[in-house]
Amino acid sequence: MEEVLDKTYVGRLAPSPTGALHLGNVRTFMIAWLRARSLGGRIVMRMEDLDHPKDKPGAAKAALEDLRWLGFDWDEEYVQSERKKLYSQALTKLATDGLVYPCVCSRKDVELAQSAPHSGEQLYYPGTCRGRFATWREALAFSGRAPCWRFRVPDGETVAFDDVFAGRVEQCVSKSLGDFPLARDEFGAGYTLAVVVDDAAMGVTEVVRGDDLVSATPAQILLQRALGLPTPRYCHVPLVVGPDGRRLAKRHGDTRVSAYRESGVDAKAVIGLLAESCGWAEKGEPVALEDLLPRFSLGTIPHSPFVVTNDLAARRAQVP
Ligand code: GLU
Repeated sequence: MEEVLDKTYVGRLAPSPTGALHLGNVRTFMIAWLRARSLGGRIVMRMEDLDHPKDKPGAAKAALEDLRWLGFDWDEEYVQSERKKLYSQALTKLATDGLVYPCVCSRKDVELAQSAPHSGEQLYYPGTCRGRFATWREALAFSGRAPCWRFRVPDGETVAFDDVFAGRVEQCVSKSLGDFPLARDEFGAGYTLAVVVDDAAMGVTEVVRGDDLVSATPAQILLQRALGLPTPRYCHVPLVVGPDGRRLAKRHGDTRVSAYRESGVDAKAVIGLLAESCGWAEKGEPVALEDLLPRFSLGTIPHSPFVVTNDLAARRAQVP
């Protein structure tokens, strides 16, 4: 049974400004927004703009505009690039405790070091650079490019959590990931360290996000423990994929929110389409985000990814 009301609930929307907002991002945000609001909770908007080579100028502002157009709102707004001091303080604490070290291995080096074939983005790191450099600067001088900070994972450390949507997750981080990367920045401004610092600093009680991050969560929990921070609840929901089963991308056609808007499609049609995929709307029914509040339930969301088919793209063209 789902909770009725939880005024202490704090959720978050955490877009990365690496490209335009598309159906895939919106579906996850829709679930996160409805989950928080249906419980009477608060929502934090956090722009995750620390990924410099991939971040696109103007994408952050455009994503917020798209979300407002779709009917989203939030109570607080943060930008990670303005919060680097906090990440640096966390890194200093980890360094003082001897829990991090700089690593100069390239992705290629790490791939070559795999003892078994690994699929996906998560690679096992065997600790090649443990104890190799005294400082980040020394590592930089050695390799000539920015080293990454890695977390020293204790041997045999297993992390388990009960995901609100995905169920029980258990992972032995020292065996599956090894010493995982925190940030490719001298002062710790990178996704993994920032997400952990910010979820705690912003008082986030539940993280609703795409299930591509399930396997990254045990590492984040280890980091929370090392920093003495609380662990929020997690709710990982299935991604939107193309007919080929791969995560929604440009090759699957134009599913950018801005493209729908510019072609005169109503926001209710976009939300209706995604609500239908979660079992909250009839086929082709336009519906406003807010009007989904009484219909919201995690229980009707299919556990398999939502496949955007060509049929769906064709229907989009017909939406008034
Ligand atoms: N900013 C990340 C993304 O857009 C989400 C990270 C998270 O939810 O922890 O994929």
